[in-house]
Amino acid sequence: MRKKFIAGNWKMNLTKAAAVELAAGLAAKIGTPSVDVAVCPPSVYLDAVVGALAGSAIQVGGQNCYHEPKGAFTGELSAAMLLDIGCKYVILGHSERRHILKETNADIQKKVVAALAAGLTPILCVGELLSEREAGQTAAVVHDQFDGSLAGISAEQVQQVVIAYEPVWAIGTGKVATPEQAEEVHANLRAHIAAKLGQATADVVRIQYGGSVTAENAATLLHQPNIDGALVGGASLKVESFLGIVAGAT
Ligand code: PEP
Repeated sequence: MRKKFIAGNWKMNLTKAAAVELAAGLAAKIGTPSVDVAVCPPSVYLDAVVGALAGSAIQVGGQNCYHEPKGAFTGELSAAMLLDIGCKYVILGHSERRHILKETNADIQKKVVAALAAGLTPILCVGELLSEREAGQTAAVVHDQFDGSLAGISAEQVQQVVIAYEPVWAIGTGKVATPEQAEEVHANLRAHIAAKLGQATADVVRIQYGGSVTAENAATLLHQPNIDGALVGGASLKVESFLGIVAGAT
């Protein structure tokens, strides 16, 4: 039985005061959820958010890291630094990093290796563009991103990775995938994992859905057999909407 996992990606939003207020609001109301919950604030606010969430059931993640452990890499931060500051997770290969910052599968693979080595749980994002979906390439794109971003990583280690299927056309657009569309890709990806890494691995890897998830549409998505949680952007910036999604997962 895979435990559901709801993660909020705050992206490049909020001020320090607003981030602490949001974290404190979530901490006050989260209680003891039956699902895993995390938020991923901008890196400069991680310390403050970790503090505001102390003692709550909500974990913290970074939105990115560099693949090298330390050294002359101005502006970057390592997986070990994220762990040091209190993170459990790190989002890697988000579509905004793939498409705006031109990260390749090879770049992302090195980051996944570094995150696992440091003891972080990577949340690896995959997902097709609208043009790729319309060309019937969704499965091929998702398989290629999964295979390339996890190349050379053992089945045992892949079991530690959370996958987020995020169709690019659904991210921040309000055009959520239907539960059937999402479930089709999730089931296909799980079958791909089984074929590549064995059924035992496919059975334990959690696959979140991401793309315009709201408190209103979450429950139907989250009750599909192969959807194990959500990676949430916009709706993670408000206490009530994020907690509404957490409630939809239970
Ligand atoms: C995301 O950025 O990961 C995301 C899913 O954003 P939104 O929920 O706003 O579509």
